[in-house]
Amino acid sequence: MTGYKLRGSETKKIFKAIKKAKKPKKEEEGEGPFATFFIVHLEVGTQGPPLKWQEMYWHTLVNLVNLADKYGMKLTLEFCPQWAEYILKDSYKVDQVRLWHSKGHEIALHHHPYYRLDGTEFLGWDGYTNTPGFESHPKYQGTIEIMMKLMDQLAEAINDKILTACCIENDWPEGVIYKTDGHLISHARIKPRKIRHRDVKVTIVGMGLLDTRRPETLSQLKGEFAKAKKDETFGVVTHEFNFASSPNLVEDWFKFVRETGVKEDTIRNVIQSYNEKMKLV
Ligand SMILES: [Zn+2]
Ligand SMILES: [Zn+2]
Repeated sequence: MTGYKLRGSETKKIFKAIKKAKKPKKEEEGEGPFATFFIVHLEVGTQGPPLKWQEMYWHTLVNLVNLADKYGMKLTLEFCPQWAEYILKDSYKVDQVRLWHSKGHEIALHHHPYYRLDGTEFLGWDGYTNTPGFESHPKYQGTIEIMMKLMDQLAEAINDKILTACCIENDWPEGVIYKTDGHLISHARIKPRKIRHRDVKVTIVGMGLLDTRRPETLSQLKGEFAKAKKDETFGVVTHEFNFASSPNLVEDWFKFVRETGVKEDTIRNVIQSYNEKMKLV
């Protein structure tokens, strides 16, 4: 103790400062994002015989799209090439995807590279890469060009083009112009921006993972949504296996989005309208 006594006015000042510090900062309040989107990652699946994973989760996907339709949510379905292969084998399934597309869902790409960004091997590699030296690997399927032939076959069957991908720069496919990136909660809201990938101008948006193995991600995403600003987009991603284990969590998010009244659409539609209304740099 110094023996120094506070005068009344000084005490008031200090209390005011404490009060101010307790209040959330202005920029944390947010006024709602420009728009929101919901991405589904359809995985390679590493166990069992080829395409077993896809067979296991096809009905999960059907149920997920039905649920989205119930809430008027437009999904961005990011398929690993194994999913394209699986769907193309059966004209009934191609018809189903065509129907989803006609209802406003977007068909996009999800590529699992050999290496993660930190350089470690990725167990769920889809077998495609542009990096030389993998040709004799037992999982090797071909170059990215070959992968895109498969993806384009699916897109052409429904009279569309693949414009959106979740894919690393080294394997970035020609003609794809929208990139989804992230998985952390903090990745959900960002200002879309333009980057260059292999000489292609690409618009990048972020996404946070609704992880049913960690149900707290639902409230974390809601908290992050409340902070979003008008010049940010808000992206959420989940996987088919997540939805299979906890469909309620996904339905909760759909309900939440509808309650906020914020516009929800596919990646291509969100970025196109962002481009028209905001300045994309
Ligand atoms: Zn994912
Ligand atoms: Zn994945």
